[in-house]
Amino acid sequence: MVREIIKIDEELCNGCGDCVTSCAEGAIQIIDGKAKLVSETYCDGLGACIGDCPTGALTIEEREADEFDEEAVEQHLGGMKEKQKIEDIVSRAMGHKPAGGHGHAPAHGGGGCPGSMSRMFEQAPDRDPAADELAPALSRLGNWPVQLMLAPINAPCFAGADLLISADCAPFAHANFHGEFIKGKTVLIGCPKLDDSGHYQDKLTRIFGTNSVKSVEVLFMEVPCCFGLASLVQSAIADSGRQIPLKHTKIGVRGDVVESGEA
Ligand code: SF4
Ligand code: SF4
Repeated sequence: MVREIIKIDEELCNGCGDCVTSCAEGAIQIIDGKAKLVSETYCDGLGACIGDCPTGALTIEEREADEFDEEAVEQHLGGMKEKQKIEDIVSRAMGHKPAGGHGHAPAHGGGGCPGSMSRMFEQAPDRDPAADELAPALSRLGNWPVQLMLAPINAPCFAGADLLISADCAPFAHANFHGEFIKGKTVLIGCPKLDDSGHYQDKLTRIFGTNSVKSVEVLFMEVPCCFGLASLVQSAIADSGRQIPLKHTKIGVRGDVVESGEA
């Protein structure tokens, strides 16, 4: 359908995030330092964000766009409220006042813990090992946050993602974690023993159900308690009703790959 919808001029945008907090629908997020429309279905086209932009980067245009979907917005905001609760817990733990307040405005970046704002970035390119023998290793990480507890359900990095879900200990044990496992992947980490695995399973079910995740690889340690991560991911995929290829990779406590294959 042709309708009115927000237009963002990235040349003018300075990434201040004021539009994120002024959009009641959570339609805008800061990605790679620029405001981006997360989904056309979240934007009602009324332009509540425009007046808060200090650089004039926001205008309303009329164009072909998906219809505004109030139900999708509700779902989206539900995920953001959950994130806000977690951010408040983190803020309290850090001795800060929680972002709190009512409504959902601070839930997506402006008022909460800035460390858990959803971000995506370019992964480092392949290196020529012969030419770069002495060059420092580069990070392959392409998304933030990586903690499963903090990741928003609708984070843009989940769209069409090959997802790596790693036990907390695996990157410390496996020396070439970045080189072998992260390239081209969206990364989440968690501990099935110390974290709330029931919450993780519910959250992953919602992530799989809401986003078009292409594949999942679970990296877990050989110690028996860590297999819980593989189990909860498998259950979450089943509960989501999606058919998502799943791979298990078991890492030894000395960092070796003990076994790896389709689950
Ligand atoms: S308020 Fe304007 S300048 Fe700030 S992030 Fe949004 S679009 Fe960019
Ligand atoms: S379950 Fe054990 S091995 Fe696995 S991430 Fe937690 S502490 Fe580490």
